[in-house]
Amino acid sequence: MSVSSPARITHLIAGSPWEGTAERTSPVYNPATGEQTGVLDLASKAVIDEVVANAKTSWVANWQNASLTKRTQVLFAFRELLNARKDEIGALITAEHGKVLSDAIGEVTRGLEVAEFACGIPHLLKGGFSENVSTKVDVYSIRQSLGVVAVISPFNFPAMVPLWFVPIAIACGNAVIIKPSEKDPSAVNAVAALWKEAGLPDGILNVVHGDKEAVDALLDNPDVRAVSFVGSTPIAKYVYERGTANGKRVQALGGAKNHMLVLPDADLDLAADAAVNAGFGSAGERCMAISALVAVEPVADPLIEKIKDRMGKLVTGDGTRGTDMGPLVTREHRDKVASYLDVEEGSGAEVLVDGREADFDADGDGFFLAPSLIDKVAPGMPQYDDEIFGPVLSVVRVASYDEGLKLINDSPFGNGTAIFTNDGGAARRFQNEVEVGMVGINVPIPVPMAYFSFGGWKASLFGDSHAHGMEGVHFFTRGKVVTSRWLDPSHGGLNLGFPQNV
Ligand code: NAD
Repeated sequence: MSVSSPARITHLIAGSPWEGTAERTSPVYNPATGEQTGVLDLASKAVIDEVVANAKTSWVANWQNASLTKRTQVLFAFRELLNARKDEIGALITAEHGKVLSDAIGEVTRGLEVAEFACGIPHLLKGGFSENVSTKVDVYSIRQSLGVVAVISPFNFPAMVPLWFVPIAIACGNAVIIKPSEKDPSAVNAVAALWKEAGLPDGILNVVHGDKEAVDALLDNPDVRAVSFVGSTPIAKYVYERGTANGKRVQALGGAKNHMLVLPDADLDLAADAAVNAGFGSAGERCMAISALVAVEPVADPLIEKIKDRMGKLVTGDGTRGTDMGPLVTREHRDKVASYLDVEEGSGAEVLVDGREADFDADGDGFFLAPSLIDKVAPGMPQYDDEIFGPVLSVVRVASYDEGLKLINDSPFGNGTAIFTNDGGAARRFQNEVEVGMVGINVPIPVPMAYFSFGGWKASLFGDSHAHGMEGVHFFTRGKVVTSRWLDPSHGGLNLGFPQNV
């Protein structure tokens, strides 16, 4: 189904909508109705190169040497505007991503926390100073901006993921080019308008829309100094390899397969609530979603009963109607996720709840699949091996803590994980032994606060830096150390030896 005139969505360059004519466009849908609501301009290499050149000029003229006072004034103003417009941005997210409105507003709030962290940039950028390291010689360290940096983001958090990077990059004195997902591009345009309203000089934040051509152009342009990427593992790896081969600093966050280990002594009501919330929130389209529930026997049967009971109460439908879970992002993705419910005969896996058989609270032809549960899933099955990225929770039964831990550590992914137990010793062992970047103890989605850093291990992150927190500040700056001497020149003299301290 398509509406008569989908709205044009275009780049925001130097503070204004792009006025050119796109060689290629891409459709944007409302996943709850199936309607095409937008037509998105896709940037060519020529457009990208022009934006990068313009951003570099603006950086040199208006931002590279902007005082910390000026930068923090912009950041505080942006923080206030974003807080005031959370609901508006949330509505844009729901209209293009499909997640329920409360969740959409929630992601803006998590992004806002990074802006709040970045408001403290004068303190975060303070260097060190050592007086008299040698006679009348002082040494101090400073951190300087990189120049033009690029952020390339996925569809599943159209506001929060860009906000993991943009406030810190700007606070650190860089010019930013953001390329959002082509599936839900409008939230980033709306947030970029707030930066302009907050007083950020034109050209310091630019939004370009596009696909592989735009990404490749950013990765190849020598004036783009650093790239923060978030998306699926194959693309993250590609972006990391191409970007670093071109001499750029790259952090590329990839996909996930998050396990929740439930020990027999766990509070099963807490664990069941957590499994349902983390498995089906945002239709499972979170990189921190729980998709493999690892039940240490004899806990599986009673835990499954409690989970099924809770699943029966969930309403799937249009996210603007107060439902619990919205649609998937596209029809193709919905169909792909649904295909995992066709378990191979003789594999041993059993579909306990089939989300294809549900009713949905929505009008039109949305991309819905209700929460689904598969039992007796094991490594080697696509339901276990693949990142499904949808509302399908798989139960893997294991005999012991050690078997569960080995399963998690054998996974190629290492984004998030959680343990549910009342045994502090077991929890402590798990936090020490598990090979995953973010760990929850009786907490199913352990997304770090903005002043810590977010990032996984193994195939869930390529590069050395995690997002936001101090790692974010370091990623978007370069360190410099100055050694200075102020004294009577007669103390100098010729000496070709390596400097010695006295
Ligand atoms: P994706 O990899 O398809 O797209 C991410 C970005 O890459 C988009 O901007 C897209 O336009 C661009 N892109 C797509 N194909 C490309 C190509 N061939 N060459 C260059 N660029 C390309 O990911 P998605 O479907 O938008 O997002 C979902 C994925 O993101 C999931 O795998 C999820 O786990 C992951 N994710 C990870 C994190 C994390 O923190 N690790 C956070 C959010 C999402």
